[in-house]
Amino acid sequence: KVELIDVSKSYDKQVDVISNINVTIEPGEFFVLVGPSGCGKSTMLRMIAGLEEITGGTLKIGDQVANHLTPNKRDLSMVFQNYALYPHLTVQQNITFGLDVKRMKKDEQRQKAQEVAEMLGLQAYLDRKPRELSGGQRQRVALARSIVSETPICLMDEPLSNLDAKLRAHMRSEIRRIQRKLGITMIYVTHDQVEAMTMGDRIMILHEGKIQQIGKPIDIYNYPANPFVATFIGAPP
Ligand code: ATP
Ligand code: MG
Repeated sequence: KVELIDVSKSYDKQVDVISNINVTIEPGEFFVLVGPSGCGKSTMLRMIAGLEEITGGTLKIGDQVANHLTPNKRDLSMVFQNYALYPHLTVQQNITFGLDVKRMKKDEQRQKAQEVAEMLGLQAYLDRKPRELSGGQRQRVALARSIVSETPICLMDEPLSNLDAKLRAHMRSEIRRIQRKLGITMIYVTHDQVEAMTMGDRIMILHEGKIQQIGKPIDIYNYPANPFVATFIGAPP
C-alpha cells in the first residue's frame, strides 16, 4: 500500500502547492488523482516516485517510510506526462530498457516486448526510433515500458492525453485489464473527469493542492462534498 500522512509540498518554502494530504491507497487498487491544470497532480505523483522532495509529512510505501528512499528502491514505475523516451534507442530498446538492469535474458526481453507491443498495438513499430512515431504512439511506448517492468506499483501521469477519442477509450479499458490481470497498485493522474469516473476504483479530487473529496465514483457523483466537486464532475444539482 501507499500511505500519505499530512503530506505537503512547497517549491519556494512559502506557498504550499500541496497541503495536508492524507490518504491510503490499497494494494491492487486503481486510484485516480483528478483536478484542473495546476492543482498539484504531477507534483504529488513525483513526490511518491521520489523525483521531488517532500517538504512536510510522511510517505509510506508498504510499511516503510519512504521520504528519503531513492527512486529505484521504491519498487514502482512511472509513465511521465512528456513520455521521457530515449531518442537514440529503438522502440523495442526503449520498452526493455529496465529489464537490462534486472539482467533478464535478451530472448526473454524480446518476447516480453512482443507481448506488450501486441497489447498496445505497437507491433509494427518495434524497430523505429521515437522521432519516427506520432505523439500517441510515443505515449504507448512509455506505457509499454512501464507495463513490462512489472513493478507492484505503477504511477501514470496523463498517459492518454495525446490519443484520439476512439483510441483513448480503447486504451482505458486496456490499462484497466492489464492492471487487474497483474494485480498492480495504480495511481493514475488525469484532468479528465470522465476518465476518472470510468476508470477509478476510488478517485481523489484535488483543487489548489487540497483534497476536495475521496471516494468511489458513484458516491462522489451522488454525494459531491462541495460545489467545486459538483461542478467539476458535472453532477446534477
Ligand atoms: P497539469 O494538469 O497542468 O499537468 P498539475 O496538476 O500536474 O497540472 P503541477 O505540475 O503539480 O500541476 O503543479 C502544481 C503547482 O506547482 C503549479 O502552480 C505549478 O506552477 C507549481 N510548480 C510545479 N513545478 C514547479 C517548480 N519546479 N517550481 C516552482 N513551482 C512549480
Ligand atoms: Mg501535470
